[in-house]
Amino acid sequence: MVFPILRKGYLNGLENEVEKMKRLNGKVAVVTGSNRGIGKGIAIAFANEGCKVVVNSHVHGKDADEVVREIKNLGSDAIFVKADVSKEKDMKNLIKKAVEKFGKLDIMANNAGILVFGTVEQLTEKEWDRQMAVNLKGVFFGTKYAVQQMKKQGNGGRIINISSIAGLVGFPGISAYCASKGGVTEFTREAALDHAKDGITVNAINPGVIVTDMTKGMLGDKKTNKSLMENTPVGRFGQPEDIGNAAVFLAMDESSFITGHNLVVDGGWTAR
Ligand code: NAD
Repeated sequence: MVFPILRKGYLNGLENEVEKMKRLNGKVAVVTGSNRGIGKGIAIAFANEGCKVVVNSHVHGKDADEVVREIKNLGSDAIFVKADVSKEKDMKNLIKKAVEKFGKLDIMANNAGILVFGTVEQLTEKEWDRQMAVNLKGVFFGTKYAVQQMKKQGNGGRIINISSIAGLVGFPGISAYCASKGGVTEFTREAALDHAKDGITVNAINPGVIVTDMTKGMLGDKKTNKSLMENTPVGRFGQPEDIGNAAVFLAMDESSFITGHNLVVDGGWTAR
């Protein structure tokens, strides 16, 4: 007697069924700043759910190639496209390349960001402009060109902007960063209204303290680490996967009634 599970073709069928159950099966996403950190967490979470991913950064390093490799190893597909989110020409090209490679764009995750330190009186105009150019103008360009492509396709889409809890509450010493993230929070609400009728949802994720290169310096300092932990009720800092999981939720077809929302993923920081 042949054990049923060993019958020819049985496992192939099962694998196909598992593929179909993946929550972003057949979708195409662009994730800005996905060579490391939170962007990488989002890219890998998307790929795990059957999504093809365009990995991006303004520099092409080994880390970006590694993310592409990891995604392919998961059985999905990926390419790297170099683009500086603060440059309009680059962002137009990023979307163009995504469509040339994968034929469409379903999900745009505007994640790339920098953290410029400085109180109001310390900051220079140049620092302020750089902070805004990457964190806020970059989200505008990413949303603009993604929306144009999604409207052309005519079946909706998902825009996910990575804001911060610093876009909801004040943090001393990072005034331009707070302003840029407050801008992303409000831009998200406005863009959601502009494109609600197109079936394009626009949502933000507001992470708390996540362990990445951006927070390495702060978390490496004993006193700062202790104070950040005291403000994080769940008793641990977030990992890029925590944001990746939230992004998958917002990217799913089932989330079509959620738009203009700021999803706080902060271990309870802002609940106090
Ligand atoms: P990170 O420094 O590890 O990653 C930032 C990414 O952005 C990198 O991939 C970098 O290559 C990319 N990038 C920077 N400038 C760019 C540009 N001009 N064009 C294209 N790519 C560019 O930091 P992270 O913690 O992973 O941050 C990701 C996002 O999450 C940022 O928007 C950040 O503000 C936000 N965020 C982070 C935290 C945290 O605690 N780490 C908390 C809240 C929000």
